[in-house]
Amino acid sequence: MQGVGFRPFVHRLAAELGLAGWVNNSSQGVFIEAEGPRASLEQFLLRLRTEKPPRSFIQSMESWWLDAAGYAGFEIRPSETGGGKTAIIMPDLATCPECLHEIFDPQNRRHLYPFTNCTHCGPRFSIMLSLPYDRANTSMKRFAMCPQCGQEYRDPENRRFHAQPNACPKCGPHLELWDAGGAVLAARHEALLQAVKTVREGKILALKGIGGFQLLVDARNDEAVRRLRERKQREEKPFAVMYPSLDAVRADCRVADADARLLASPEAPIVLLKRRAALAPAVAPGNPNLGVMLAYSPLHHLLMFELKFPVVATSGNLSDEPICIDEREALQRLRNIADVFLVHDRPIVRHLDDSVARVVLGREQVLRRARGYAPLPVRLTAGRPATALDTASPVLAVGGHLKNTVALAIGPQVFVSQHIGDLETVQSYEAFLGVINDFERLYDAEPRWIAHDGHPDYLSTQFARSLLAHKAGPRGVSVQHHIAHVLACAAENELAPPLLGVSWDGTGHGLDGTVWGGEFFLVTATACRRVAHLRQFRLPGGAQAVKEPRRAMLGMIYEVFGESALAASDAPPMKSFAAADLPALAGMLRSGFNSPLTSSAGRLFDAVAAFLGLRQIVRFEGQAAMELEFALDGIETDETYSFEMECQEQTDGESMLVVDWRPIVRGILADVKGKLPVGLISAKFHNALAEVIVAVARRAGQPQVALSGGCFQNRYLTERVDARLEREGFRPYWPQRIPPNDGGIALGQIVATLMGAR
Ligand code: ZN
Ligand code: ZN
Ligand code: FE
Repeated sequence: MQGVGFRPFVHRLAAELGLAGWVNNSSQGVFIEAEGPRASLEQFLLRLRTEKPPRSFIQSMESWWLDAAGYAGFEIRPSETGGGKTAIIMPDLATCPECLHEIFDPQNRRHLYPFTNCTHCGPRFSIMLSLPYDRANTSMKRFAMCPQCGQEYRDPENRRFHAQPNACPKCGPHLELWDAGGAVLAARHEALLQAVKTVREGKILALKGIGGFQLLVDARNDEAVRRLRERKQREEKPFAVMYPSLDAVRADCRVADADARLLASPEAPIVLLKRRAALAPAVAPGNPNLGVMLAYSPLHHLLMFELKFPVVATSGNLSDEPICIDEREALQRLRNIADVFLVHDRPIVRHLDDSVARVVLGREQVLRRARGYAPLPVRLTAGRPATALDTASPVLAVGGHLKNTVALAIGPQVFVSQHIGDLETVQSYEAFLGVINDFERLYDAEPRWIAHDGHPDYLSTQFARSLLAHKAGPRGVSVQHHIAHVLACAAENELAPPLLGVSWDGTGHGLDGTVWGGEFFLVTATACRRVAHLRQFRLPGGAQAVKEPRRAMLGMIYEVFGESALAASDAPPMKSFAAADLPALAGMLRSGFNSPLTSSAGRLFDAVAAFLGLRQIVRFEGQAAMELEFALDGIETDETYSFEMECQEQTDGESMLVVDWRPIVRGILADVKGKLPVGLISAKFHNALAEVIVAVARRAGQPQVALSGGCFQNRYLTERVDARLEREGFRPYWPQRIPPNDGGIALGQIVATLMGAR
């Protein structure tokens, strides 16, 4: 945006709104830090986009909230030159208004052309083979520009000046419609129209999109959606839906201003919204929310224009596998799922799922970071302890096991990869290897340090260890899972230690070999020390208990009431077990055989969900906990359950606070007997957990509290904890750009490596 008066514009706007701070230019784009009252900052964000100078264009914009620094006025700072050598690769950007206008203009030569783009929009990361970003280094190199496109490309006054994927119907990629055997049914616009026809008929369309294949089916047709579930082997996990317009979204869901901004942003993620109307029940069974997106490429715009109704748009894969990117491969892998294939001849270089985001506490929060965001870096600043490592050595972090991402740190920039997925299948492990290879090649980095999770059995850990086996190779750092969660949150909020880190999730390998997941850490400049945790209980069957909340419930009941309660209880989960299984499970709890100890908050959610009869066996990760949250159904209460805290002396002389949640369970039992509504019990349970965090924060005495881990995907818990901490004078922080779930582990591993904390 050089020379278009952008920085003076920012300065003027800030002055008008009475904001302090600064703006500067760097090789990565424009950075702005603005400080002032919340409402003025929200105005500032909105007006940046709508009032920018005529010749400027904001390709992509990430915003996040920081503590006030106390600036005196607003200044234009000198451009940053040093340390900016690392090239910034742009993410794929949703179609801009001008291109959109062109494809629906019958007079325009790009009328109905699905691969229209310009310097403001279009594919980037998904078509890039190598740096620098030139057409010859993209998958567009196979298309020679026609004279007209070439002229646009060379004209500095043209919107398509050096638009690398520039193309038109004469010279660019084209559509084809294939049957499941790969035979061509139609080409060009006729292919699109026939694809639309098949979706109208309730068939399943495999669509080659921007970052991979999507599966499209009529979201109003329950039978068709069910067929997709069966074929994809995805039982109950909610599907995302693409809507033809923002108005259509508003008709079905509650859309606040911040939601609308996110839906229509160049990042164009799937946005989680509260739904009003029901589509086909099979779209998101039993879920009061809906993942919604708008068309983000000309191809999607043209499809949605013809369809005029919402369609399920889910990743083109079999459950647990990575998304398909190649049409030949798609024919193989999706042949038993899709009826027809709408494909094109512009190769997709790397897979990028649709990103998932939401607005929580008035801020955007990314839950799955991929298309539109990756690979924009997180810049480590205030929270980064001074160390020689960050300038000397690239660090590779291989992430966790579920929702895996990897990260590469070069200087203060951390490039977090796109979402890869659960490393449960051969295909996803190969995708993991592919992304690491891709990142090292793109950024020309040979890692000197490799950070990995502490769990010895994770495939990512084993891969890291295999690299470390070479003598002269990189050095390794094992980073405890929950420490990684906390450090990721602290780093992106630019927090300087000390602080209290709250790390609550389902499962992670603890430093003492037990299963952690309800942890509190005191973070200083050089170390992370576990200072508190939830009381442990046993999980009969270990990994099986993750799939069966009723097993976690047995462990919880055993911990509170002892073995006799197992036989005596008539709670719903008891009836779900075969009578013959109960004695064996009781035996496991007694002996500890295959029944690991856990302090996991996520498992406690599971156990309570099972105890209340909400769910005994889950079909996807986190389902039981989600249903316990959904049971709240808008209830507002400050009622809660009591709990106790015990201070234990450790062998190293330090003390450890153990939160005894057994009184909570006794309270729940009494309320169940008293026939209190499940929603109210759930609210009291959520509130009690929020009080647990407040109580530990009081003992820790740190004003800054960083909240991370998968449990903070729970909106009610996050909002409640935030409100309670604020009221008690603490400053709570939560993840914004990087997911609170295990998608954030890789960033945390990088930070841990840089600060030397193990
Ligand atoms: Zn455009
Ligand atoms: Zn052309
Ligand atoms: Fe985790």
